[in-house]
Amino acid sequence: MSDEHVLICVAWPYANGPLHLGHVAGCYLPPDIQARFERARGNRVLMVSGSDEHGTPITVTAETQGISPQEVVDKYHEINTKALMDLGCSWEPNIDPRGPEYGGALFNRTSDPEHYEIVSENFMKLMNAGLFERKVMQQYYEIRDEGGRFLPDRYVEGECPTCSAEGARGDQCDECGVTYEAHELKNPKSKMNPDASIEIRDTEHFFYRLDFFQEVLEKHANQRQGVWKPNVKAMTKQWLKMGLRPRAVTRDLDWGIPLPLEGNEWDGKCIYVWFEAVQGYYSCARLWAKRYSNSEDYEKWWKITESGKPPRHLYFLGKDNIPFHTVIWPAIIMGLNHANKGLDDSTPPALPGPGDLSLEDNVPAMEYLMLAGGQFSKSRKHAVWLPSFLERFDPDTLRYYLSINMPEAHDTDFNWPDFVEKINSELIAAYGNFVHRVLTLGSRLPNDRPISTFDNLSYCTDEMKKLETLHRQATSSLERHRYKEALRTVMSAAQLGNQMLQAAIPWKFLKDLDADGSEQSMAKLAFGWRLSRYLAIMTQPFLPFSAQRLWESLGESGDVALAPWDSAVDWNVSYKWSESEPTPLFQQLDLEEILSQEKSLAGQSPDSNDPGHSVKGGKKNNKEVKKMPEGTTHVDFETFMEVKLRVGKIESVSDHENADKLYVVAIDDGSESGRTICAGLKDYYTPEQMVGKSIVFVANLKPRKLRGIVSEGMMLAADDGNGGVKLVTIDGDITPGSQVR
Ligand SMILES: [Zn+2]
Repeated sequence: MSDEHVLICVAWPYANGPLHLGHVAGCYLPPDIQARFERARGNRVLMVSGSDEHGTPITVTAETQGISPQEVVDKYHEINTKALMDLGCSWEPNIDPRGPEYGGALFNRTSDPEHYEIVSENFMKLMNAGLFERKVMQQYYEIRDEGGRFLPDRYVEGECPTCSAEGARGDQCDECGVTYEAHELKNPKSKMNPDASIEIRDTEHFFYRLDFFQEVLEKHANQRQGVWKPNVKAMTKQWLKMGLRPRAVTRDLDWGIPLPLEGNEWDGKCIYVWFEAVQGYYSCARLWAKRYSNSEDYEKWWKITESGKPPRHLYFLGKDNIPFHTVIWPAIIMGLNHANKGLDDSTPPALPGPGDLSLEDNVPAMEYLMLAGGQFSKSRKHAVWLPSFLERFDPDTLRYYLSINMPEAHDTDFNWPDFVEKINSELIAAYGNFVHRVLTLGSRLPNDRPISTFDNLSYCTDEMKKLETLHRQATSSLERHRYKEALRTVMSAAQLGNQMLQAAIPWKFLKDLDADGSEQSMAKLAFGWRLSRYLAIMTQPFLPFSAQRLWESLGESGDVALAPWDSAVDWNVSYKWSESEPTPLFQQLDLEEILSQEKSLAGQSPDSNDPGHSVKGGKKNNKEVKKMPEGTTHVDFETFMEVKLRVGKIESVSDHENADKLYVVAIDDGSESGRTICAGLKDYYTPEQMVGKSIVFVANLKPRKLRGIVSEGMMLAADDGNGGVKLVTIDGDITPGSQVR
C-alpha cells in the first residue's frame, strides 16, 4: 500500500531521567523503523510524541534533588531529545522532504501552552457532554504551620497492610504487589517530611465515566482481534472483563495543567497526568499542522474521511501500557466524537464513523528488554543509559542489536558479549564484509575496463529471483511489525551475496580479464553493486547511518531514505560507481576493551532519582530487575511451563538414509505408537550405547521433516562447547511418558 495517511504514535517518555536501552527497544526504535519503512513505501507519515513533563514522577525527582520541577523537565527533555536524534530517530526535519502533504514529525512537550489549551478545551467538551462525574474521595493531607498540602500516592509511605513491608506507597505495595485504599496503610508518613503530622481529608474530584463506554469498547476490541498481537488481545480482554469503572481525571497536585474551571474550590488541583499526556498524540498532530502545514491538515491523520476511509494509527509502547491505548484512550476519543456531535450521556456512544476522530489500528506493544547482571547490577539502577552508550558506539550497532534482539513476543536480554558477538559475526561478517569486498575488488579494475562494463544481468537471473523473494518477505514482515524477522531476511540477502562471490571467485580473474569464465565471474561482481544498492535501501529503516554511507560509497547521491522501497529490486537502474577509496562500513568491536570501560556506562545515572519508565500510569515491576549472571535471558514461569518435557525409553537407533549425521531414534513415550526423533548424535554415541537409555525429550515441539523423515520432538543433551555431548538421562526407573518438571 502506498499513499496512505499513517499516524505513528510513540509513547511519551517521562522527562525525569535519561532513557535507557530498555526504553529504546520497547518504545523508541520500533516506531522509527516503521516510520522509515512507511515513508520509503510512499505513505504519508506523521510521527508524534514528546516529553511527559507532569505528575509526581517529576515532582518527586525535583524535591529529592532540591530543584524545581521545571529544571528537571528542561534538563531531561533536552538530554532525551538529543539522545533520540543521535540514535537516528527521525524527529527532524519536522517536515517531510517531499513536502508537508507527506507529513513529518514533532517531538513536543506536555508543558507546551498550546497542549494546555487543547487539553482544557477537551476537558470542557467532555464535562459538558455529561461524561464526568464528581466524587468525594479520601486523601492524605500533610499539616503544616502555614497551610498544608494533599499528599499524592508517591508522597506517602508506610507499612503494607498485607505483608507488613516498610516503604509501601499510598495505594500500592511494591514488595507484594497488592493495592489498597489509602486509609488501610499502616503508620503512614509523609515521604518528604516524615516528622509532619498527616491525616485523611475529603477531597472532591472529577472522574471520567469509562463504564459508559464498556460495550462499544468491547465491540472495538472484537473488531481488532485479527490485527492485535496476543499480548495486546489478552490484556485488553482482561481489563474489559473486570468491568470498567469511572477513573479520576483530576488530583491534588499543583504541577500540571490547572482545571479550566472558575472557583477557589479547585485551587491546588490539576488534570491528572495520565489523562492529559495521552491526549498528546492528538494535540501534537494539531500543533504540527499549525506550525508546519495548515491548521486543518491534522484531520488527514486523525479523521475518518467522508467516504469512510480511516487513517492508519499505530501506537508504539511497552507492555505495561497496553490497556491505556486499547481501552482508556479509545474511550476518550469516542467521548470527544460524542461531544463533537452535541450528544450527551442520554445517547449511547458509537464507534467512529465518517468525519470522526479515528481509533487505533494496531498497537504493536513490545515485551521488555532485560539487562544482564554481573558488573552492571552493582549499580542501584541497573541500566545502560542511551546518551552514554551513543558517546562510545556507532548508533547503527545498537539499532542492529536491538532490532535482531527485539522483545517482540517475549522478554529478551542485553549483554555485552552477545552484543559484540552479533555485531562482529553477523552485522560485519555478513553485511559489512560483503559490500566492502564488492567495492574493493571493483576499485582494482583497470581504468579502461571499469566494473560497469561487466554489468550483465543475464548471468544473475537466479540471484535476482531470490532477492525479489526476500524483498517480498521482508516487506510482509514489516507490515506485520516483525522487525527481527525482517532484518534477518535482509541479512540473508547479504549472505547470498557472499555465497555468490565465493562461487564466482572474481579475484582470480582480476589479473586476466580475458581468461575463460571471466565474463561470468565479473558479471557477478558487477551484480554485487546492485545487491549492495538493494541492501542500502533495505537496511535504511534499521540502520540509517550505515545505509547512507553505503549509498554514497556506491556513487549514488541524495538521501537513501528517499529511495523508494521497491526500487531495491529495480535491476534496470543505471549503473554508478564512486571513485573514492572504499572504507569499511563498521568497526570491529573488542569485548575486552568494552568490558574494561563498562563501569563507566553501567548505571551511569548522574543524578536522576528514578528513570524507571512508566509512561502514563503504567507501573514498572522492580522485581524484574534482579541480579543474574551475564548472558542469561529470563523467561517467565508460564512460558517455561509451555514446554512439555517427558521421559522416553530408547527402543532402537538406526542410520538416517539421507543424512550422514542423523540417527533415527524410536522412542517408547508411553503411547501405543511411540514416536520417532531424528538426532544428530552420530559423533558422540553408537546405537548400542543409546538403546535402553531413559532420556528426556521435548514432547510438544512442532514436528519437523528432516530429509524425508518426520521428527517428533527433541532429546535433551548437554554440550560443553568443546566437542563433548552427553544425553540427559534419568536417575532410576520411571514409566515412559512421565512428565519432567
Ligand atoms: Zn505488601
